[in-house]
Amino acid sequence: MYLVENHHEAIISHKDFNAVDAVINQRAKEKGIEKRNNKYQNRYSFSGKIICSECGSTFKRRIHSASTKKYIAWCCNKHIKKITECSMQFIRDENIKAAFVMMINKLIFGQKFILRPLLEGLRNQNNTENFLRIEELETKIEKNIEQCHMLTSLMTKGYLEPAVFNKEKNALIAEGARLQTEKKQLTYSLNGNLSKV
Ligand SMILES: [Zn+2]
Repeated sequence: MYLVENHHEAIISHKDFNAVDAVINQRAKEKGIEKRNNKYQNRYSFSGKIICSECGSTFKRRIHSASTKKYIAWCCNKHIKKITECSMQFIRDENIKAAFVMMINKLIFGQKFILRPLLEGLRNQNNTENFLRIEELETKIEKNIEQCHMLTSLMTKGYLEPAVFNKEKNALIAEGARLQTEKKQLTYSLNGNLSKV
């Protein structure tokens, strides 16, 4: 069920997966019981990680019962709250796990073509370029601040017409804001890359 049988040996067996899942759940549960915060909300391995393809909401873990038998299923949060807003049906926990294990195995088999290049990309090129650009932006931001001070000092000494001063000042402020925004975006993507690695 978890692998294409007779093709190759399982890299992650169903048993291993369940064992790891149990440890993760237990740890998260311990944390969750101490503090009722966001961690508590994410106490299962798939909590907050399954996204509904119809509406984009996250899925919620629930216990369903069919006659006397109970089973675990994942359901779109929007569907649970208002069935008319999302028609996504629930998915059984075992099917989610099977799909997950199959995908991980595929990724492991294809690591040379998918994971390695992705990792290298995240580690090297993008980051180096981003670091250099951030440094460059920081220098420009400092220069921008200096120019603002210079402009104000020229104005207070009476060397500038107010109209000229305002025009120059506004241009510098706009430039400063643009530089800050670019720096913020790059820092954000850099942090994102590092946490993905
Ligand atoms: Zn949905």
